[in-house]
Amino acid sequence: MQNSSFLPFALPEIGEEEINEVVDALRSGWVTTGPKAKRFEEDFSSYLGREGIESIAVNSATAGLHLALEALGVGPGDEVIVPSYTFTATAEVVRYLGATPVMVDVLESTFNIDPAAIEAAITSRTKVVMPVHFAGLSCDMDAILGIARAHGLKVVEDAAHALPTTWKGSKIGTLDSDITVFSFYANKTMTTGEGGMLVTRDAVLAKRCRVMRLHGISRDAFDRYVSKTPAWFYEIVAPGFKYNMSDVAAAMGIHQLKRLPGFQVKRQAMAQVYLEALKGLPVALPPQAQDGDLHAWHLFPLRLLPEAGISRDEFIVKMSELGIGCSVHFIPLHLQPYWRDSCKLSPAQFPVAQRLFEQEVSIPLYTKMTEADQQRVIEAVRKVLNKDA
Ligand SMILES: *Cc1c(COP(=O)(O)O)cnc(C)c1O
Repeated sequence: MQNSSFLPFALPEIGEEEINEVVDALRSGWVTTGPKAKRFEEDFSSYLGREGIESIAVNSATAGLHLALEALGVGPGDEVIVPSYTFTATAEVVRYLGATPVMVDVLESTFNIDPAAIEAAITSRTKVVMPVHFAGLSCDMDAILGIARAHGLKVVEDAAHALPTTWKGSKIGTLDSDITVFSFYANKTMTTGEGGMLVTRDAVLAKRCRVMRLHGISRDAFDRYVSKTPAWFYEIVAPGFKYNMSDVAAAMGIHQLKRLPGFQVKRQAMAQVYLEALKGLPVALPPQAQDGDLHAWHLFPLRLLPEAGISRDEFIVKMSELGIGCSVHFIPLHLQPYWRDSCKLSPAQFPVAQRLFEQEVSIPLYTKMTEADQQRVIEAVRKVLNKDA
């Protein structure tokens, strides 16, 4: 059955505008960080629309998260609270800085970090909390920001899934966290191939992130190119990283960003179709945003209930036989050999994340899918669950 009409789990939607802009970058001779990256950053700040926001384009969200923690002064001896139910990038950046990630459990109702578990994990060494807006549904940011304020902690939002997502009417990226980081990886809600955006309203943090993004150089190549001081002169003020976004990537981003609101409308409509069509099956459907809020619907996570009579692993094999690619989000960190062993973690400490993982399967949801593609997915799910046999 697996043939040329296999429906992949994810595909980017890239149009002629993106292609033409990339070609323009290639023809211009300016292919590293330059005018297009600058324009993309400005467009991104305008898009978020809150006074004083600075957007800093980087070559991945992982890079952005690393820069964020570095700018906040995270180092050896510090603890950073992260959910176990996330991608390894959220925690690995803590290790880059010699600090300790402290994994906590999530809420069954949202898959998002449990504010009570954050509170319980706070010690005198805790410095930062990193919530992840799983699948594009906002965490309870009132609770998280409240806890952080009460304990003097910093907040870095891993918003890799959350574009565009709102919390009580405000876009993620405009809340009172210290730093928020978005991902433009190939399968995210908008893409630059590889890329990310770090946003903050703190001018001091922004400055540090800009400098550390490019080798710890006091001014970047474009700045040196356009400014009045001699182009050859620069100063190294810290041992920085190589995390700048190229103009080739930014060229894609400029147009993906313009299309983002339309992408969200389409994803929302597709999610609605799934929510209707899969009602009554032995699956738990994903949580929706509160009234008036946006869910980015980066993922559509189903949970196979015990009465389905099929394991998650078998379900994925059967879906694949019917030509549908599925995935699992996430294999929690407490099950990953490195994190399990180095942080001495066991499933008993994360009962919710463990249960979600055992039952979770993500079915395809992306803007390039046609109505017919989506109907194929729905039929396959019904068939595998024996409802249309
Ligand atoms: C994709 C992802 C990242 C990393 O994004 P990159 O741009 O690939 O570095 C970080 N956190 C989460 C939750 C993700 O899903």
